[in-house]
Amino acid sequence: MNRTGKVFLVGSGPGSVDLLTIRAHRTIQEADIVLYDSLAYSEIIDLVPERAEKVYVGKRMGSHSLSQAEINQEILKAAKKYKRVVRLKGGDPFIFGRGGEEINFLHENKIEFEVIPGITAAVAASASLKMPLTHRDFGQSVIFLSGYTKNSNDSGLPEYDWKFLARQSLTLVFYMGLHHAGRIADKLMENGMSSDTGVALVSAVSLPHEQVFFTTLHELRGTLNTNKIAFPALLIIGRVVTLNQYHPGSAGQIQKTDSNIDILINIFHGARSLQNSSIPAEFCSLMKSKLGIKRVEYCFLTEQFQPSYETLFKKIALEEISYRIAAWPIFLLPGKHLDEDIPALIEKMQKKYPALDIKLYRAPDLLEDLLPSLVAAAARRGII
Ligand code: SAH
Repeated sequence: MNRTGKVFLVGSGPGSVDLLTIRAHRTIQEADIVLYDSLAYSEIIDLVPERAEKVYVGKRMGSHSLSQAEINQEILKAAKKYKRVVRLKGGDPFIFGRGGEEINFLHENKIEFEVIPGITAAVAASASLKMPLTHRDFGQSVIFLSGYTKNSNDSGLPEYDWKFLARQSLTLVFYMGLHHAGRIADKLMENGMSSDTGVALVSAVSLPHEQVFFTTLHELRGTLNTNKIAFPALLIIGRVVTLNQYHPGSAGQIQKTDSNIDILINIFHGARSLQNSSIPAEFCSLMKSKLGIKRVEYCFLTEQFQPSYETLFKKIALEEISYRIAAWPIFLLPGKHLDEDIPALIEKMQKKYPALDIKLYRAPDLLEDLLPSLVAAAARRGII
């Protein structure tokens, strides 16, 4: 008799909750335990039922990451304890997701498993850019590559056949390639790829702070020097990019999102009447629609009210994305809370999570900073 539970290796897609497959959604909802890692976006984690256990096995910001062997042990432990174990992975589990290593381990330990595919980042990026990855005339095949390898040589790059990769009719998609992007461009040009071949740098595909930068092989280093490109990011190279017609940024310029804030956090002081009330959430969705900010969250100043600021910042930090955060204390008048407690807590969170860029606002400053994106949002909706 089989005494261990069943493990579901589930692809979460690129991040946006509505790019999850129905099968993945159902499996998450039926899970007894979900083991997830850094690329799983928190709205997807919110789908995990209350009764199920959630275990984060990814890289913890600023501290040590679990090795694959340690993750395998966590899966084994879960399978011994529970019937339905979900191992949630970013994108597709079998595209640079170490899914192969995990199923080998499951097989060796005679644990039953199933694999549920997810939309891989390259495919989501292609749709978002309205740019096909293959084209009969100028991109007869597409190759997904890793820009990094654990056996890398001195240059830090995998040892590919660069001459082959430099052929003009291929589309190259580099995962984990941001770090070595400049070297990748050099290698391709040294091996004969035209220096004006188009390059799309696509960051945080499908998430509210998605950014796209169009450049060329010989301008890539400059683009990287003058722009802060957030992780996770893909590098798409080839004539499909050079000839991309439908994206507004395709004329060789750089395109960025119009807002300079990724997440707005409303900090409430906390009053009995707000506890367990829908007011804070409703306030956030109102701000989202009225201000055109894509992600608005709220938290409370004290631990007794949840989510407290500690809980919220921790949840955001676990996404491992360098968000630009605007913290906005609302309904607070000048005084001890506004002038001392809140600046101190923001400083504490900034120290604890250095990858986040947290800025504290007073109401009028915030509105001034948001004005350009408000005007852009209003224009898009035809209001002005
Ligand atoms: N299994 C995943 C890939 C894991 S490797 C998949 O199928 O998509 C991690 C790399 O994937 C990152 O370094 C980045 O290159 C890419 N990636 C994952 N999610 C992304 C996203 N939302 N936007 C851009 N790149 C992403």
